[in-house]
Amino acid sequence: MSEVRHNWTKEEILEIYNRPMMSLLYDAATIHRKQHDPNVVQVSTLLSIKTGGCSEDCGYCPQAARYHTGVEGNDLMTVNQVKAQALRAKESGSSRVCMGAAWRNVKDGPEFDQVLEMVRGINKLNMEVCCTLGMVTENQAQRLAEAGLYAYNHNLDSSEEYYKEVISTRGYQDRLDTIDNVRKTNVTVCSGGIIGMGENVEDRAGMLVALSTLNPQPESTPINALVAVEGTPLEDEKPVEIWDMIRMVATTRIVLPETQVRLSAGRTQMSREGQAMCFFAGANSIFAGDKLLTTPNPDVNEDMKMFKLLGLNPQKPFTKKVQPQSVEAADSQFEALGEKPKWTRPEHKIDRNEAAKANGKLVK
Ligand code: SF4
Repeated sequence: MSEVRHNWTKEEILEIYNRPMMSLLYDAATIHRKQHDPNVVQVSTLLSIKTGGCSEDCGYCPQAARYHTGVEGNDLMTVNQVKAQALRAKESGSSRVCMGAAWRNVKDGPEFDQVLEMVRGINKLNMEVCCTLGMVTENQAQRLAEAGLYAYNHNLDSSEEYYKEVISTRGYQDRLDTIDNVRKTNVTVCSGGIIGMGENVEDRAGMLVALSTLNPQPESTPINALVAVEGTPLEDEKPVEIWDMIRMVATTRIVLPETQVRLSAGRTQMSREGQAMCFFAGANSIFAGDKLLTTPNPDVNEDMKMFKLLGLNPQKPFTKKVQPQSVEAADSQFEALGEKPKWTRPEHKIDRNEAAKANGKLVK
């Protein structure tokens, strides 16, 4: 029942998603216990190392420069600032730091070199290092791996069909290409999505088909509930019902049995009881810290109180895979190639965004 399968169909996943809640919870929790310690949850800190000013048009994202969200663009943080924050995260129980930069894609040059130094610095703190920097080429993924990167995050966001309704500046295939580039290295893959963007249940199942048929499946899958931010095209979407979140987590656990399933954005809207149900259904990772890039997140002390209440323990770093070796910049075997990722759907437009643009609402 808990073997890893790469041939899930949308129909099979929908059947799981729609099971009576008690059966779904039992099935997911049974698989969870076979594959993972149910009382251990990974705590990861998300650090926005370069906020705002992004050229992309992801409909959910307040960091897109074209939306009126009040998020101002910042310069890339310094290596020392990042190391200091990573140390603080470690002291408060995090085993992983995920560095996010609001970039369309990685560009070779001094800023990427600075990120590689950050990766080396955090790896030396004996923490798992993850980056989410947009699209990467194989060469850039190799350079990140060589610096000691543990994971690369690149979410599929939704089904291939619904992705087109949310983002026009990249295609689904571009996402898959970046995941493929990361897979050519020894860096693990973190990829998941967002619910509550106006998609239907078929789209949720479609996203899980796409994730589960990746071979290997992602080592980590964040499940986000949309935080609808004023000024973004999705500002009017209703908050996700906790029962939808529980169903999505449980279904993810069943189709991705070995993956760490991460409760990500939207936790401030969830009660402790709701989060406990998600942990029971197979979530075994959270983001800690009072901000998730730009949106609110529970305070770390609140999370630790919840862990105590539920008898949960934070996962130690490198429990699932050994710590990568970090090669110093001077000893690197790779030179920057200056490649740009391709864009597979440059002519695509989204009706909702075009209408908003015509009303002067979106573009600054
Ligand atoms: S999600 Fe990432 S790529 Fe999309 S607009 Fe936000 S920062 Fe840019």
